[in-house]
Amino acid sequence: MSNSRLPVYVDTRTIFQQQGKLTGSVALERLPGFQQYLVDKSGEVEVELNFILNESSRKIISGSLSANVTLACQRCLEPVDIILQDRIQLALLSDEAELEYLEADLEPWVCEDKHLDLASVVEEQLILCLPIVSYHPEGDCQLGMVSTATGELAQEEMSKKAKNPFAVLQALKIDKTE
Ligand SMILES: [Zn+2]
Repeated sequence: MSNSRLPVYVDTRTIFQQQGKLTGSVALERLPGFQQYLVDKSGEVEVELNFILNESSRKIISGSLSANVTLACQRCLEPVDIILQDRIQLALLSDEAELEYLEADLEPWVCEDKHLDLASVVEEQLILCLPIVSYHPEGDCQLGMVSTATGELAQEEMSKKAKNPFAVLQALKIDKTE
C-alpha cells in the first residue's frame, strides 16, 4: 500500500508521450470544493491516473479514484459513512474550441496551461460521483451508534442489507448525472 502523495501538477507536454502513470493520495483538505459536502472533512482520496495518447492522438486521462467519506444522512442528519469509487476517463483539451471536435463518448477536461492541476481534476470527479441522496441503511437510521461506525463497519452493514434499496444506493457507485 503506497502512501505517496499525488503530485500537484503534471506537465501536459511530456506526460502523455511518456505514458505516465501516477498513483497516490490527495488529502481532502486540498479539495475545498468537495469538502463542503462532508461532515468529517479529514481523510484522503486514493487515485490512479494513466496518461495515454490514444489511436487518434487524443490525450486521455484514464484511471480510478476511491475515498471513504462522511456525509450527513438526509433522513436523520447524523453522519453516515459512504464509499465513493469511480472510474476516470477524460480527454484533455488545450482549448475550449476543440470541444466541437471531440468524439461524443469522451468527457472533456479543458486545460489551457501546460501544467495540469491534478487536485482540481480529482475534486470534480469526486463531486460527480457523490450519491444524489445519502441515507443510513433502514433500521440503523437515527441510532446514535451508527455515527461512530468506521467506514469498514458501515460497509459491512450495507452489504448485509444489500436488499434494502437505500443501502444499495449507498453501496453502489452512483452513475454520473451530468
Ligand atoms: Zn440516518
